[in-house]
Amino acid sequence: MAQSIPLPVWPGDAAVCVSLTFDVDAESAQLRHGSDVLTKMTTMSAARYGPVRGIPRILELLDSRSIPATFYVPGDTALRHPAAVRSIAIAGHEIGHHGFLHLHDDQAELAGQREEIDRGLGALIELTGSAPRGYRSPGWELTEDVFDLLVKSGFDWDSSCMGDDRPYLEESGDASLLELPVHWSLDDVPYYAWSRAAGGQMCDPDTLTATWLAEFDSAVAERRHVTYTMHPEFVGRGYRVAELARMVDEMRSRAAVWFASHGQVAELIRAGGPAGVELPARQPP
Ligand code: ZN
Repeated sequence: MAQSIPLPVWPGDAAVCVSLTFDVDAESAQLRHGSDVLTKMTTMSAARYGPVRGIPRILELLDSRSIPATFYVPGDTALRHPAAVRSIAIAGHEIGHHGFLHLHDDQAELAGQREEIDRGLGALIELTGSAPRGYRSPGWELTEDVFDLLVKSGFDWDSSCMGDDRPYLEESGDASLLELPVHWSLDDVPYYAWSRAAGGQMCDPDTLTATWLAEFDSAVAERRHVTYTMHPEFVGRGYRVAELARMVDEMRSRAAVWFASHGQVAELIRAGGPAGVELPARQPP
């Protein structure tokens, strides 16, 4: 179940809060199917493109627009591409938990789900020196077991569920956790992901931008928060990053926007203020 919470007043009295988030799946999205894929050089190289080319382009764009972002990183990506992941942290962006081998929560037994959480935490702590505060379920299929693990591990928020288009409290049993909701229409995968094996879409960037700006306009009208989800291996092509830059500029021309990381949004909600909310007490990780 879920519980609504009041929307905070955004800093600077901005009309809308936007979070740009990037899931750095890289090879883990392939390896979750088994190690046989390791011999497929084209598939593995297409996955590697994200950290190699996508991340530098995205970081340059974020720096040029002074936008803080949240990157959800599987442990395998942190081990395989330490320099690229470190560059995200060095640039001042936030790193969140995205499993270890990108195993979908609903496709693993409890022990496997726990291992994904623990190994993912270990890899990110080793690389960045601190524990991630937020979690995003690989493939967006959060289970009650993983939800329980997140609460017990002291995570501040989850970003995998779709029960509202405003921040809310997601609940399971007696436990609750701040949810910064997502939606498939606000993910680049349905627009940009295509593979010979899985099929998919290969949309013109204008199609993605038109939909995302329509969501933005509705969020402005309601003074709410929007999370957009992207993947460096898909959005990281040169012309797609250029389109993302145009979209960000268009947003700023339409309304006063507070671009914020998920951690900043969670902090603001937790801090209270005029429309503050009592959140579950945070447990130390
Ligand atoms: Zn992912």
